[in-house]
Amino acid sequence: MNASPIEPQRLQTLNRARCRPDGEHVLYWMQGSQREAFNPALEHAVHRANELSLPLRVVFALTADYPEANQRHFRFMLEGLRETARHLGRRGIRFEIEPGDPAEVALRAARRAALVVCDRGYLPPHRAWRETLAQGATCPVEQVEGDVVVPVEVASERPEVAARTLRPRLLRHLSRFLKALPRQEVAFPLKPGPELDVEGLLTTLTGLDRSVAPVERHFIGGPDEARRRFEGFLERGLAAWQAGRNHPHTDQVSQMSPYLHFGQVSPVWLALRAEEAAGPDEQDALNAFLEQLVVRRELAFNHAAHNPAPTLWQGLPGWARQTLMEHRADPRAALYTEEQLLEARTHDPYWNAAMLEMRHTGYMHNYMRMYWGKKILEWTSDPEEAWDRTLRFNNRFLLDGRDPVSWGSVGWVFGLHDRPWPSRAVFGTVRSMTAGGLERKTDPRAYVLKVQGRLAGEAPPG
Ligand SMILES: Cc1cc2nc3c(=O)[nH]c(=O)nc-3n(C[C@H](O)[C@H](O)[C@H](O)COP(=O)(O)OP(=O)(O)OC[C@H]3O[C@@H](n4cnc5c(N)ncnc54)[C@H](O)[C@@H]3O)c2cc1C
Repeated sequence: MNASPIEPQRLQTLNRARCRPDGEHVLYWMQGSQREAFNPALEHAVHRANELSLPLRVVFALTADYPEANQRHFRFMLEGLRETARHLGRRGIRFEIEPGDPAEVALRAARRAALVVCDRGYLPPHRAWRETLAQGATCPVEQVEGDVVVPVEVASERPEVAARTLRPRLLRHLSRFLKALPRQEVAFPLKPGPELDVEGLLTTLTGLDRSVAPVERHFIGGPDEARRRFEGFLERGLAAWQAGRNHPHTDQVSQMSPYLHFGQVSPVWLALRAEEAAGPDEQDALNAFLEQLVVRRELAFNHAAHNPAPTLWQGLPGWARQTLMEHRADPRAALYTEEQLLEARTHDPYWNAAMLEMRHTGYMHNYMRMYWGKKILEWTSDPEEAWDRTLRFNNRFLLDGRDPVSWGSVGWVFGLHDRPWPSRAVFGTVRSMTAGGLERKTDPRAYVLKVQGRLAGEAPPG
């Protein structure tokens, strides 16, 4: 029998149960890696099903109670799942959506399975679902880590303090994990299920937060759209990305983060395609792109996996929390209520444009995200409340919100993975950002015009 097509370091067996001899199928409980192409959990599941001479079922749990998710996120996700179901069907793999709590759906679907495969989740609810499944299942649960380039524990067993400490650890392993994933032939194909009805499913989700409108005018979900966008990005060239990435009035960015968040595209595939496409004079740009896609992104996964409180104020470095609290009573240039911020009614046109970009499109340029976050910290009287506020906005409006990178990056605003800087009012030794700095380094007025142009005629969603 052939070996599994995935690197053994991507695989973790979560319990000690044995394969059920009367199992009717192998189950892949899909949660994080919502794609058919370049999905290590799926290819491992096909391999295990073939080995056991069984068909493969893929089940996805749909619950309106998903932490912090709203209609905007659900629509994007379901568009992607409709495509994934089609892609799986062509390979003889049946995809089913089951309503209910993810752990309960997975356990129910596991009852008649010989073996369960799942992808990996890093944030507390995702880990809890997998623990419940592993404890309750009467067959083995095999977890496959396919949404990072280097498996998190291979890179590091501890919380890293900054990119500079994680980088050498990641780069050491990069070539081992940046490689093609062969598609496995499905030995026992099943007939595909019916086409997924996105609108119908959205209406069945009672209790869904419908206060934030979908953004299909700006982003359509799905692996095909992710590939199409990325190919367009590569055609414009990595050198163009390097030149434009700190200039938010340009659109020289990949916009892959929503697709990565929903697992609609593989980071390994993105890195391999970028490597293939980079010209001889673009090697520097390629390395800068991999620095973001692999090092910065996987630093956030390191934080989610190894910090005991990755989503909480308490998970931020002690020095940063202390200095912010010491400066809590400092006078501030302005203090805004949550409503004023939400409605982009501050004195700062750059910040207002960033907030509007986020609310209307579900995306915000990275350079503006940094400024946007630093200003919320500055304009909120209590740093801990500022942390909660920033995350509330981030996770409510951004398509890529609620991701390990959300907490890693908002954490950066509050000193995570950064170092102390010369002390200033309000921020203490946490790095600050000013409108003057923005004006010196880029062209925020042009950014305001870009956002105004993009949103012309649109009513504010939600
Ligand atoms: C306050 C704040 C909040 C943020 N919230 C989120 C969030 O909720 N979800 C999210 O995915 N990212 C978040 N980021 C990180 C970053 O801004 C986005 O990943 C990036 O802007 C996505 O756009 P892109 O795909 O066009 O990036 P590109 O410039 O094309 O970069 C390619 C990929 O590299 C990774 N990447 C780029 N910049 C960063 C970064 N600073 N940190 C980690 N990975 C990075 C992303 O996976 C991105 O898709 C936040 C940053 C800040 C400062």
